[in-house]
Amino acid sequence: MTNELYPSHIADLLSKRAELTPERVGLVVAESAATYTYRELNARANRLANLMRSLGVGKGDRVAILAQNSVVYVDLLYGLAKIGAILAPLNWRLTARELSYIAADCAPRAIVCGPEYAGVLAELRREVDIDIVLGIEGAQIEGGQSYEDGVAAAADAEPERPPLNSEDICCILYTSGTTGRPKGAMLPHRQVLFNCINTVISWGLGADDISPVMTPMFHAGGLFVFLTPLFYVGGKIIMARSFDSEASLALIQRERCTVVLGVPTLFQMWMASPSFAAADFSAVRYFVSGGAPCPVSLIHAWREAKGGVLRQGYGLTEVGVNCFTMSNEESVRKIGSVGHPIYHSRMRIVDGDGRDVVRGETGELIIWGPHVCAGYWRNEAATAQALRDGWFHTGDMARQDDEGYYYLAGRYKDMIISGGENVYAAEVETVFLEHPAVGEAALIGLPDAHWGEVGQMIVVTRPGRTATEEELLSFCRARLARYKVPKRVVFVEALPYSPYGKVIKAELRQRYGSDAASTL
Ligand code: AMP
Repeated sequence: MTNELYPSHIADLLSKRAELTPERVGLVVAESAATYTYRELNARANRLANLMRSLGVGKGDRVAILAQNSVVYVDLLYGLAKIGAILAPLNWRLTARELSYIAADCAPRAIVCGPEYAGVLAELRREVDIDIVLGIEGAQIEGGQSYEDGVAAAADAEPERPPLNSEDICCILYTSGTTGRPKGAMLPHRQVLFNCINTVISWGLGADDISPVMTPMFHAGGLFVFLTPLFYVGGKIIMARSFDSEASLALIQRERCTVVLGVPTLFQMWMASPSFAAADFSAVRYFVSGGAPCPVSLIHAWREAKGGVLRQGYGLTEVGVNCFTMSNEESVRKIGSVGHPIYHSRMRIVDGDGRDVVRGETGELIIWGPHVCAGYWRNEAATAQALRDGWFHTGDMARQDDEGYYYLAGRYKDMIISGGENVYAAEVETVFLEHPAVGEAALIGLPDAHWGEVGQMIVVTRPGRTATEEELLSFCRARLARYKVPKRVVFVEALPYSPYGKVIKAELRQRYGSDAASTL
């Protein structure tokens, strides 16, 4: 995309809010009930920007964060944008080994760390040098300085601004990939801005809307589904440190939340909560389920229990989190659909040769628009594969019905989604193959009522070697985040291969997957 006359960057978004609605509360911290007006939020972002500048962080530098949800994410997201630096949030569910790979890849100039992760950070720093370390909430970190003290001592005037344009990167979010190694999706300023515009227009958000953020802010969902769009229109965010089903139900009612995001597993957890039956959602205009396929049975069950609107949303870190829109009426009439593409967006459904399929047929969903990312950080091969002529290839299967409504219909990419977290088969298989007893390994997903899917690893041992299921699982646990560790391991004599030498997962799923699972 070209450099427009009026650059669509996000550096001014909070400053503008502070000018328009300085005394409106933009953020409430769920646990402490601390409130921040837009004037205060902007002042904090300015202080953070000035602090970072004084520490030598400049345009294009990466700043990582490894912490639970807090106002610090807001400081960093908006403050770093003001000086053209790049926010690189780290998933705290990952092991030090996984984090080291990511830190080596994006080479952050600075890292901000919460008290719970000081130990992991120490391990990570044995592998990767990071110049500047800031501890939040009293985190004891060797050579680190206090984030709060640094921010408090910095000036709250708008920082000196480097030239910025819409293509400058403001955020790198890591996702796993088909090669088994994480890839950093580069989000330019324009993507974040257009996600605000698209969401506000298509989802009808206004200044009176209130939304909880209780999913992790290291993911695109926490940062961009409601937070940035609501700050754009002057709405209010209630931020919870982490997810707790009882506490979040109470929060939604107490704060009179109007728009609420969950992943299917969260909706399941809410429905299983003792306080669900009595929960009063009268303030909620709609719930949105995203991040994973939402079973139609779940939508029915929710509606029967509570009435109200539960819509299905769809998005991807790489193309912005909110890609579709549907009205309340459509969410009932077209249950199972994700609706129509969001306002500033184009979509196609194509076959293996890139030709549009006939309406009604299933193909790959590809997306074009100002909300599409700029590719992957220092990974031209992955960028070229995903972004072709500006069209992002999602790896998801979709179809349209005769009225043009879109439905997600599975995945081409070899990935399972467990509790809303993506697990790429290649990454887990690579770890299994590092075990001396494992000759071949293939991961498939098993449907799971709670998590949506769980992993099942099909293993062929090396000749003359044996291993137990528990041995392999604990080997895996030491190397991968818990959510990536398969639920079970099945040992077989041989895997089925296609003539091209690829494991035929469809056959494995048939043999060892859902239908067969009960007999294993
Ligand atoms: P992430 O980048 O972590 O947001 O994951 C994006 C992936 O989640 C997509 O490529 C889909 O495979 C999956 N996903 C998100 N929303 C839905 C949905 N409503 N239905 C099916 N899959 C979804």
